[in-house]
Amino acid sequence: MPECLFCGIAVGDIPATIVSANSRTVAFRDINPQAPVHILVIPRVHHRNLADLGAAADGLLGDLVAHAREVAVAEGIVDSGYRVVFNTGPQAGQTVDHVHAHVLGGRPMSWPPG
Ligand code: 5GP
Ligand code: ZN
Repeated sequence: MPECLFCGIAVGDIPATIVSANSRTVAFRDINPQAPVHILVIPRVHHRNLADLGAAADGLLGDLVAHAREVAVAEGIVDSGYRVVFNTGPQAGQTVDHVHAHVLGGRPMSWPPG
């Protein structure tokens, strides 16, 4: 079993509620949802955070964001609005070191975040 939790979910070793997947990215429901819609979108390949994914410059970041949009469409939150969040590093609250986009929606959200 891979050491990384989200690598484990990507290969199916660790169970998760998958909402959609393709050859490069996987979307699944967050185990501790902070909004009525709270889905994580990850690349199948391990990158530690958004900076590392962006530096790879192989189009995977674009694929991830496109998948986040597909999730928002499928969940019916495009018109009401939604947030795509990449927590990056400890002060931002990143707890899983496999880059993931949080797709959050279905309720009003305040700004700035706490
Ligand atoms: P971070 O704090 O790193 O930005 O976000 C990590 C997210 O992963 C959290 O929202 C947390 O609830 C979620 N999470 C942690 N472990 C699991 C798990 O085993 N399964 C799922 N589906 N989500 C998880
Ligand atoms: Zn990983």
